[in-house]
Amino acid sequence: MGGGLLPLSPGRAARWRATADGQTAAAEGLSRARAQNELLQLAAAHPDGVEQGVLKTAVQQYQQPLRALQRKGLVEQAPAPRATAAPSEEPTLNAAQRAVVEAVDAGHERFAPHLLYGVTGSGKTAVYLELARRALARGRQVLVLVPEIGLTPQLLARFGAELPVTTAVLHSGLTDRQDGLRYHGRDLAVVRAQRRGVAVVLGSATPSLESLANARSGQYALQRLDERAGAAEPPRLELIDLRRRRVEQGLSRPLVDAMAGELDAGGQVLLFLNRRGWAPTLICDDCGWVAECHRCDARLTVHRGGTRQRCHHCGAEGRVPSACPDCGSQALVELGQGTERIEQAIAERFPETEAVRIDRDSTRRRGALEAKLERVRQGQARILLGTQMLAKGHDFPGVTLVGVLDADLGLFGADFRPPEHLAQTILQVAGRAGRGDRPGRVLIQTRHPEHPLLR
Ligand SMILES: [Zn+2]
Ligand SMILES: [Zn+2]
Repeated sequence: MGGGLLPLSPGRAARWRATADGQTAAAEGLSRARAQNELLQLAAAHPDGVEQGVLKTAVQQYQQPLRALQRKGLVEQAPAPRATAAPSEEPTLNAAQRAVVEAVDAGHERFAPHLLYGVTGSGKTAVYLELARRALARGRQVLVLVPEIGLTPQLLARFGAELPVTTAVLHSGLTDRQDGLRYHGRDLAVVRAQRRGVAVVLGSATPSLESLANARSGQYALQRLDERAGAAEPPRLELIDLRRRRVEQGLSRPLVDAMAGELDAGGQVLLFLNRRGWAPTLICDDCGWVAECHRCDARLTVHRGGTRQRCHHCGAEGRVPSACPDCGSQALVELGQGTERIEQAIAERFPETEAVRIDRDSTRRRGALEAKLERVRQGQARILLGTQMLAKGHDFPGVTLVGVLDADLGLFGADFRPPEHLAQTILQVAGRAGRGDRPGRVLIQTRHPEHPLLR
């Protein structure tokens, strides 16, 4: 990583934090202006304030949007932080932390990658510090890579206060959100460790699918910090190859069986399908005509059980024709599944179980989203079906099984978002699956199980 040196001690530059209104707006993504939204998210992620320099890293021309946020009362200047952290007392590690330190330290003389899995607050930083202390005591150097957003003055002060050496901070000048660069730091760290023949610890509360797969195959040693009450095991990911399975109305047999088992055991099931409506395509079985929007040429999505069609690009809406406008045939076929259609399939297979559907269509009415989420939290609704709206900060502690109905939408979807987006969404959802000592299960339906992201 290149870039200039930053001073270790927190600077005197102005610092900004989100107001109470700003926190709410950040959580709900209210600000439509992109730059303002970026800045607001950053400010909201740093309750003690974020330096202007960091804001500038995220948004080059940050001054105007920052002033706009201030005028709206969403951000305010934060008081200057203490120059240094108080020196901590003798560090004490709990049993789980000690076990991880010993496991990593035992192999310090050779290349050994470790995946350190622990939720926020489980004490990963104390593990890094103890490992660094031991390496320094042996006269070695330590490289710590932190995503920009995690590089807080508090973290720097903690390393500075607890390690008896000079800490140089190299600034990459990149934000961790830039596409394609997300995993750069991780890969770089592993390659460097391999060249130098030393241990490398990859810490995360939401490891990437690739890292989890490496841990499963034994390429990474998996270290867990799960002493904290209620901490869950990492989710178990299983692929269902749709090419080899009979699929009825979008649901494969293994998924339906797993749902039945989980519901019998008293758990809740979350099904994720990032496509609303009834069916994404209406096609004439005789001549191949496909229903397209007369305004923008996008394919029309069939809605409301097959009665209406709507353009998801421009909003045009109309009735579904009763016959093909090209050849007059009445053999019009609805291809594929949206959330509406899956909702009906679930009702047919699990008629006794209340299901809740959460997407933009089902939550238009004011208060509808809250009411639906409440039925899930109270345990009345035990099947939860929805689009990426589900991944937006809601918590579903009773969910023990997550089904991703169409992973290929994320891998090869028409929205051209990178596959990392799918991985993050799945993990945001799956990170909540599992109760206590019982790991959550994630079943992923795909026609491309060979895809590097899923392999
Ligand atoms: Zn036709
Ligand atoms: Zn349109």
